[in-house]
Amino acid sequence: MKLFAVFGDPIMHSKSPRMHNNAIKALNLNALYLRYHLRDACLLKQSLYELKLSGANITLPFKEEALKIADFKDELALKIGSANTLIIKEKQSYAYNTDGIGFLKAIEDFKDFKTALILGAGGTAKALAFVLANKGVKVCVANRSQLRLKDFDFCETYVYEDLRSNEGFELVINTTSAGLKDESLPCDKELLNTLLAKASFAFEVIYGKKTPFLNLCEQHKLVYKDGLAMLLWQGVFAFKLFFELEGKDILIKEAMQEALALT
Ligand code: NDP
Repeated sequence: MKLFAVFGDPIMHSKSPRMHNNAIKALNLNALYLRYHLRDACLLKQSLYELKLSGANITLPFKEEALKIADFKDELALKIGSANTLIIKEKQSYAYNTDGIGFLKAIEDFKDFKTALILGAGGTAKALAFVLANKGVKVCVANRSQLRLKDFDFCETYVYEDLRSNEGFELVINTTSAGLKDESLPCDKELLNTLLAKASFAFEVIYGKKTPFLNLCEQHKLVYKDGLAMLLWQGVFAFKLFFELEGKDILIKEAMQEALALT
């Protein structure tokens, strides 16, 4: 039997075990997916091997460490600077990042946009900015503080104060944690209203709650999605890597979706 696990801190909230175990069942595979509460990044590599895992998903705050410890790094993961999926084969580890491609799949029905504004400059912003820029979208990243903007040398960057006179963006994405545990917006309401008034689409990476950002997007009558679709598709792509599967996307997606509906 193959063993897999998701590593993070905290980890109890993770929906990955349910999603992956339901897909394992649907495809009749001989495998089990567990959760592992890792408290110290230095123990990631050791834990992977001690548990005799065939693969793992890595969530906050260990995605950078996951890339660092891998023997082989996928080009996309390297460019994004973090990994959420590790495959272990013959005592070698391989790092991938499926967050960005999961996001692209989630917004597949947002048609024909050419400009995107990403609010926030953390790891998720980097993954999304990179895959969008790679697709030919003109990406701009804005953050409340300057420091992390230096990681985005492939696109335009601003602190919020300098964004006011901008001409507007068709897609606005919130990758900040604003609204996750409170009722705050990622930036000031007046600025956000100006930006959303010029947009057609919006995306919120947070899932499981209607955030103040999404409420505002609704008021502006934008086509919008929350992070559940991204969570789902990053899981589908990780699962395909775990089991070296091709062409089973819909079956895996439906099994994972069923598991998410039950949580
Ligand atoms: P990071 O900690 O790397 O980055 C957070 C960013 O948000 C930083 O730019 C930070 O600004 C900004 N920020 C944090 N709090 C606030 C606030 N109150 N107001 C304005 N800006 C704020 O986080 P990640 O990028 O790793 O994760 C971000 C979110 O994405 C999390 O909520 C996570 O749960 C979600 N996520 C969802 C996924 C999905 O599948 N749907 C997958 C991965 C993540 P500063 O630099 O100034 O500190």
